[in-house]
Amino acid sequence: MKTRFIFITGGVVSSLGKGLASAALGALLQARGYSVRVRKLDPYLNIDPGTMSPTEHGEVFVTDDGAETDLDLGHYERFTGVAATKSDNVTTGRIYSEVLGKERRGDYLGGTVQVIPHVTDAIKKFVTADLNNEDFIICEIGGTVGDIESLPFLEAIRQLGNELGSSEAMFIHLTLVPYLQAAGELKTKPTQHSVKELQGVGIRPDMVVCRCDRPIPNSHRNKIGLFCNIMPNAVISALDVDTIYQVPINYHEDGLDTQVLNHFNIGSSKKPNLEPWRHIVRSIREPEGEVSIAVVGKYTDLPDAYKSLSEALSHGGIANNARVNLNWISSEIFENEDTLEILSDVHGILVPGGFGQRGSTGKMRAAQFARERLLPYFGICFGMQMAVIEAARSLAGITDAGSTEFGPCAEPLVGMMTEWHKGDSLVRRTGQDNIGGTMRLGAYPAELKNNSLIANIYGNTKIFERHRHRYEVNINYKKELEAAGLSFSGLSPDGLLPETIELIGHPWFIGVQFHPELKSKPFDPHPLFSSFIAAAIDQSRLV
Ligand code: GLN
Repeated sequence: MKTRFIFITGGVVSSLGKGLASAALGALLQARGYSVRVRKLDPYLNIDPGTMSPTEHGEVFVTDDGAETDLDLGHYERFTGVAATKSDNVTTGRIYSEVLGKERRGDYLGGTVQVIPHVTDAIKKFVTADLNNEDFIICEIGGTVGDIESLPFLEAIRQLGNELGSSEAMFIHLTLVPYLQAAGELKTKPTQHSVKELQGVGIRPDMVVCRCDRPIPNSHRNKIGLFCNIMPNAVISALDVDTIYQVPINYHEDGLDTQVLNHFNIGSSKKPNLEPWRHIVRSIREPEGEVSIAVVGKYTDLPDAYKSLSEALSHGGIANNARVNLNWISSEIFENEDTLEILSDVHGILVPGGFGQRGSTGKMRAAQFARERLLPYFGICFGMQMAVIEAARSLAGITDAGSTEFGPCAEPLVGMMTEWHKGDSLVRRTGQDNIGGTMRLGAYPAELKNNSLIANIYGNTKIFERHRHRYEVNINYKKELEAAGLSFSGLSPDGLLPETIELIGHPWFIGVQFHPELKSKPFDPHPLFSSFIAAAIDQSRLV
């Protein structure tokens, strides 16, 4: 089958769930036996989100091949199981930087370089490059129709739609149908205006998906169809849901995948089996037990900053048939030691990835609390580094232990690596490099010690996990820390970079230098999260 392209735009307001809609459509097409790949075009000028604060942009999702991407790519991976690559997310900044690089090299042979055709060509090339004979490419366009900065992307997909024709391309527009309390009515006008805006740039949507807090009556579907020039059954409702894993089920019930196949004139031979999704939803809605986990971090009032993490924890709950209640705690409150007692009510403590000194003392105190009270502790990246510094100070008597991330330090338990291996090549970095894209990024192998807790959890001694960090635990302290009870249970294959640590004699105290949350999926919960939640359940039985 030839590859079909489905472009997903959004209108009226942002945050309507375009990313989830794209991911859910991918999952539905897969459930009908088709292969899919989901991509995203982001209209901002940063080259990638790697340099943006999580408060600006939410989590930075890292792919196996080391791209720092939008968090929607995490949804795509979790819903479709297809590993994203650097060919799946691009920003206006990257497109322009490519075009300008070519201009400097003289590749345009003296021509005037313009948005149309040079920028739009670069966008089209990105959308259609690196394909693997997928049946469908779902391409989400970030931002909202009407934003100045989305225009080159909209122009590029308009051209592609024209070149491919409607048998190979389709446009889906996601809008909002608000309920006005005072009028007691659902309003279709914002949708009409948004579609008009889209038509103004030459794109006529083939389907309109309406985010709504209640079912959309047929009269309203007819009206939207009439004004937007589509059949009423191409008006799909996107109802608010209690769990995101209900989204594919709702979309299917409202005909999303059926209409997509109708558009392409593909006879829908196979009815999708959504039982696995129903099973996930049931186990989220009707768990047998529950545990509470404290997540001690920095951006705790912004759950999007830890999107994959909260999903991975809920997958750990699914694996154990338990509800996982998350207590988001800003580590800064532990500057005052008296507040630590709030941790005695939880069944596990997780310190996630993070950057910078602010709040680091509180993270170390949380690790110390878990260590001393025998509470399950899971330290991810920065959370591992803080646990190692804490153990060095408290168990190995290295009182000046610190991280060079916070400035020069007498005992650099955590320091900046300047060289490491990626496959057969040597990667080098100096302290003066650009800040963007210079971390140790993407999937690297690690070797786990036989019979360590972590090797038992993985059921394997060779693992492959995704990284995003600049600093490393210093291998030169291995002997001293191991003598004090902190095992360096996982190392890079050359034995130089500590990848995992665990505390001997503690029921569950693990630190990992990588981000396991990025690979967890609802149908395939990450073993570390399943095991951490299982340990928290054991803990809950003790209290
Ligand atoms: N700030 C730490 C480093 O750069 C940890 C990064 C992280 O947690 N992702 O090494």
